[in-house]
Amino acid sequence: MEKFDLLIIGSGPAGTGAAFRARSLGLTVCVVEKSETGGACLNRGCIPTKTLLHGAGLLREAREGERYGFTAGDIRFDFSKLIEWKNTVVSTLRQNQSAALVKAGVVMVSGIARVESPGKVLVHPDAEGGGEKILEAAAILIAAGTVPALLPIPGHDLPGVYTSDAFLEGDGLFPKRLAIIGGGVIGVEFAAAYSSFGSEVTIVEALPSILANMDREIGQTLALQLKKRGVGIYTGAHIDRIEGSGGTLALALTKSGGAGVDSITAPADAVLMAAGRKPDAVSLFAAGSAPQFTPKGFIRHDENMMSTIPGIYVAGDISGGVQLAHAAAAEGEYAASCIAAALKGGKKDPGGDRVIPSCVYTTPEIACAGITVAEAAERSIPAAAGKGVFGANGRAFLENQERGFIKLVFHAETRALIGAQFFCNRATEIIPWAVQCIGDGTTLEQIERTVFPHPSYCETIAQAVNDAVTRGGLKNNPVRGNGA
Ligand SMILES: Cc1cc2nc3c(=O)[nH]c(=O)nc-3n(C[C@H](O)[C@H](O)[C@H](O)COP(=O)(O)OP(=O)(O)OC[C@H]3O[C@@H](n4cnc5c(N)ncnc54)[C@H](O)[C@@H]3O)c2cc1C
Repeated sequence: MEKFDLLIIGSGPAGTGAAFRARSLGLTVCVVEKSETGGACLNRGCIPTKTLLHGAGLLREAREGERYGFTAGDIRFDFSKLIEWKNTVVSTLRQNQSAALVKAGVVMVSGIARVESPGKVLVHPDAEGGGEKILEAAAILIAAGTVPALLPIPGHDLPGVYTSDAFLEGDGLFPKRLAIIGGGVIGVEFAAAYSSFGSEVTIVEALPSILANMDREIGQTLALQLKKRGVGIYTGAHIDRIEGSGGTLALALTKSGGAGVDSITAPADAVLMAAGRKPDAVSLFAAGSAPQFTPKGFIRHDENMMSTIPGIYVAGDISGGVQLAHAAAAEGEYAASCIAAALKGGKKDPGGDRVIPSCVYTTPEIACAGITVAEAAERSIPAAAGKGVFGANGRAFLENQERGFIKLVFHAETRALIGAQFFCNRATEIIPWAVQCIGDGTTLEQIERTVFPHPSYCETIAQAVNDAVTRGGLKNNPVRGNGA
């Protein structure tokens, strides 16, 4: 019987992050994966959506090329070619990821894992066969991710209603009319891509705005821009049912407005249910061997990522934290360090309170870190904000960026940066600057000393800092300008 220091269930960002870190700390590691290496992120999430969005952006730019003096004639779009490229990207990255794991000395096992007891995992053969076997390990890490959630709306099981998985796997889907349930990150990214491809897109969101968990102006500005591109958006809307006959679907919804309640029908050829993801933790444990779950079904854990059963740890989406690939990877690495410290002694990594950026890959991009000024008010944190807009930003203007802004939130007393919201091209590449400043407690005065390159999107950071001083109430600081 094989025995490892650490057995990881799941090869998504949490599992692979943990595997690499554990190997670097000298543990023997086995990863069991029931599907493809890379998890939701690589196969049905981050990478395929960003490939489609990149294609959508190029298509839009090509159509707007006349501004720059080139005419590409009759631009035609072949969705199947883009899908071919998406599949090449995914399979190449998957192979590279598998090779890197093997090279690092990780033993990869294919099959469905179930925890029998602490230290013992039963692996069932997967679809490709292979014998059932028991693997043993000193510690087990559950990094099994989540599955798409289907809202129990009448009609949710009609043919033509899909989760994001169906849109991203294999040959994908290209409906003429697409209705999206959910105006969160996944919903708006699909809306941005498919509206550029030429689908008629409608988003239906129950909350008062799209991207409702971000700074209010972000949702408002993105809604304006999507509407300009022809996307229909119903917010504060309740879906009564999904109707369907003869391959045509419709969302029957009600929306409260000034004049009462409106009944609206949104026709569609396909409905994307983008209503979040949920854990499926029960199936990971033999009867009687499961640790405690939260009311929403995530696995409870302590500050060392250990579940309520000693020796069984958890990381990534299934731990109930923020559902993002980089958060999962960071959590996996941290969990591996906690496990190594428990098994071999030594110190665990400094962990839990890292600043996690949130990104949306629309055009322009959106990237946020830390808190908004509204969250600061809710939590009674004294804060002052500054905003920079892109009207006078040379790079944004020459690249024809639509309306965008940068907001910075400072602690009014310590003057440290505590939040940043970027709505501009390349926001996802600039946000690590804010992540580091927030993590390090960098003050307004220290940021003021930064010289930003010209022309660049990040120059507008300086404008936001200046605004925090002149309009945001951070004036009259005796140390201002000292670089203190
Ligand atoms: C459409 C979409 C777009 C997204 N875009 C982004 C983005 O741009 N940026 C971002 O940061 N995040 C994005 N996410 C979220 C991101 O994909 C997840 O947060 C991330 O994949 C979570 O990583 P994980 O390792 O916890 O789980 P997963 O990536 O879900 O991996 C879990 C793995 O465990 C395996 N597994 C489960 N049960 C078993 C078992 N019993 N035995 C063996 N193996 C098992 C699964 O097959 C899977 O491979 C997106 C998600 C979706 C759906």
